[in-house]
Formats: sequence, structure tokens, C-alpha cells
Amino acid sequence: MQEILFEEAVARYLSQSHHPDVRLRAVLFDMDGVLFNSMPYHADAWHTVMERHGLHLSREEAFLHEGRTGAATINIVYRRQYGRDADPELVKQIYAEKSAEFARHPEPERMKGAPELIQKVKECGLIPVLVTGSGQTTLLDRLAHSYPDTFDRAHMVTAFDVKYGKPNPEPYLMGLAKAGVTAREALVVENAPIGVQAGVAAGIFTVAVNTGPLDGQVLLDAGANLLFPSMQAFSDRWEQVYRVLKG
Ligand code: MG
Repeated sequence: MQEILFEEAVARYLSQSHHPDVRLRAVLFDMDGVLFNSMPYHADAWHTVMERHGLHLSREEAFLHEGRTGAATINIVYRRQYGRDADPELVKQIYAEKSAEFARHPEPERMKGAPELIQKVKECGLIPVLVTGSGQTTLLDRLAHSYPDTFDRAHMVTAFDVKYGKPNPEPYLMGLAKAGVTAREALVVENAPIGVQAGVAAGIFTVAVNTGPLDGQVLLDAGANLLFPSMQAFSDRWEQVYRVLKG
């Protein structure tokens, strides 16, 4: 991909968002499927635990719902089968079982290319911010070890902070507030269609990295400003992307 394409993507973003320019100061990272190669384990845990409760969610569909809160995912499936939301106690139980099932899998690896990209972001003097719908404490705890000196507590938005969650812009708007920046001073890195929708709805330039089994087109349809086939590919092009976003 050439730098001219990045310039075009930024020009399109500016005309849609009505911002005068972009002056990058913070990078808002999703966690699962961006920082950790954890999505196959999440999809498997969702499928296994939902089936245990007679609820049908394939592994592939789990990827489509990635980024939603646990309750939202459970209720989408529950409503489809029973025409109403699940009892809050059942939601809590299923999510606890799903977290336990996830924890039975091996520890997810850092996503290839992610440590390198984080390093470049820090070297540019940008603020790294975590914006995840996850309430998976095992993984949140591992962040500090896997990405040391990167995500300061004050710069993290998790399932415990939000009311609506992605695709609502709320988590990314909170991320902006925590970093003390505006939409045109930030960049979102997302791998899920719903996460891309949230970043775009927050008015932020959103880069999609297609690290899962979905067709890349779903990420573009969700509104992604740029699409890379992997975190490594994004990291390899970081310098060119940064040049057009730094203002
Ligand atoms: Mg994700």
C-alpha cells in the first residue's frame, strides 16, 4: 500500500467528520485480536458454554459479536431463541462459566507485530490507551506483563467502566477523555466489525486489522478508514501512516 492511499483515507475521514485536520496524540488499542491472539479461544469458550445452556452460537458467529459486552452477546442469542432477554442471574452465570472456560485454554500469545507497533507508538511520544469490552480479569492482569510500561491504569477502559459497550461509541469516547484528547487527535486500532463501528461512531480515524477468519470487507463495511491484513502489516507501514496523521 502506498502513502498516497493513506493520504486519501485521511482526506475522506476529514470530509466525513468535518474536522479541519488530524493531529495524532493518542492511539486507542482494542485488546482481543489486536494485542493478544486470544479470539480463537474466546470463540471456542463462547460456543462451548452457550451449547451447555442450550443456546446456539457458532464459533464463527462469536467472531462477529466480538467486542460486545458478555451480557449483550448472551442476550442476542437468548432473544433469538426465546424472544426475550435472559434473566440477569443466568447472564451472570453464563458469563462466569465462559470466563472459566476461556481460562482453561493456554495463555494467548501476544499478537505478532503488536509489541513492535506499541514500541513505535511510544517512540513517537503518543499516548497508548486500552479500550476493551473485555471483563476477562486473567487477560487484563497479563497486560502489565506482556506490554510492560505501556497501559497506565488511568488510560484503560474495560467492561467494568462502560454502560453500553461497543458498537456504541461510549468506550472510545471514554478512552479519549481518559487520554485528554479529542477525536481528531486519536487513532483507533480494531479487529472486530463492532469495534470498528464504535471507533467510527466516536468520530475517530479507525484502522482495522483483520486478524481473524472474517472477510476483510465486513471491516470496511463497518466504516474502517484503513484495512491491514495483520498487525504485522500495520506495524510495517506505521511510519507512512504516522506521517499523514501527525499533522
Ligand atoms: Mg478485538
